[in-house]
Amino acid sequence: MSADSKHFETVAVRTQTEKTQFLEHSVPMYLTSGFVFEDAEEMRASFAEEKKRNLYSRFSNPNTSEFVDKICKLEGAEDGYAFATGMAAVFSTFAALLDAGDHIVSARSVFGSTHSLFTKYFPKWNIETSYFATNELDTIERLIKPNTKIIFAESPTNPGVDVLDIETLGKIAKKHKILLVIDNCFATPYLQNPIKFGADLVIHSGTKLIDGQGRVLGGVTVGTKELIREIYLFARNTGPALSPFNAWILSKSLETLAVRVDRHSENALKLAEFLEAHPKVNWVKYPFLPSHPHYEIAKRQMKLGGNIVAFEVKNGVEGGKTFFDTIQMCSLSANLGDTRTIVTHPASTTHNKLAKEDKLAVGITDGMVRCSVGLEHIDDILKDIQQSLEKI
Ligand SMILES: *Cc1c(COP(=O)(O)O)cnc(C)c1O
Repeated sequence: MSADSKHFETVAVRTQTEKTQFLEHSVPMYLTSGFVFEDAEEMRASFAEEKKRNLYSRFSNPNTSEFVDKICKLEGAEDGYAFATGMAAVFSTFAALLDAGDHIVSARSVFGSTHSLFTKYFPKWNIETSYFATNELDTIERLIKPNTKIIFAESPTNPGVDVLDIETLGKIAKKHKILLVIDNCFATPYLQNPIKFGADLVIHSGTKLIDGQGRVLGGVTVGTKELIREIYLFARNTGPALSPFNAWILSKSLETLAVRVDRHSENALKLAEFLEAHPKVNWVKYPFLPSHPHYEIAKRQMKLGGNIVAFEVKNGVEGGKTFFDTIQMCSLSANLGDTRTIVTHPASTTHNKLAKEDKLAVGITDGMVRCSVGLEHIDDILKDIQQSLEKI
């Protein structure tokens, strides 16, 4: 239940920021770049932030505000800012809060582009990153230095679906007075609320399960008023704002998030159980499978297991190639969190920039498949994957 004691589903469906002009039941789109003022004094007061209102859609817009407001309520956050993409949210969050010479402590297993930020771009500003393995949280304190500002992690991780104990991370961050930033993309606000476990900021790629239908890109960061203020000022000057059209889509999508993720998770668990018993599969990882190394943490921290299943087919590169070349219904794509089941080969696509040892360190092997389980009937998903596995 959320803070105002309504259930998640109700908050997702019923949150509406403002009464609209014609009392439309469905919130209209406000496709406008700017807003007008009554007179010089109103304009002055608005720019001086004495008056809270929309000025320009790079700063805020009724549609983006509504989307942000909903995510804040669903995550239990004070405030937020919506971005054009998940990566704009990740980059802007770090860029707004870090100075040259600061230090990040991050899980080794992170989204490919986030890894590129840490290894290729942040070093340009003398911002260094130290890494911990997802199953060795006890090594984190040794990595913390006087200039460490942020601990960063995803849970579950992409693509290895490792689960990190966010409460433990929160305690470490608090003890050392540093910020904990969690990319909550795989869990969505429906399955897990990192702020409850001690996170200061939560990031989402709206592109994934929040849109959930493979249509638009978007991202959002939520957290305390004070931190979001810094992020907002950075964003309003640098321009990574979410478009009102995409915000309208994402806000509407949130209304169905719970029912979609329930079914996604039900299908994913069935697929994971099927794969675990299949002779052509070496291993399967899914947070709600008892064989998952972090099953107990997942059960404590998440409502359901989510829609991502990772597994390794037999016969290495050749086996992987056969699997991807013979799949019939499931899509070969790099996206995830769509209604359509998608299979991805992380080693050659999303994580191809990683050196081989870095790939192995985050659990990416040549024969590994990341499956984003969709909303087709589970029997049809199983049938397609079964016929591909048989050809290996
Ligand atoms: C996809 C993804 C992102 C980036 O989101 P975009 O909207 O594609 O920019 C960030 N983190 C995780 C965990 C993701 O899966």
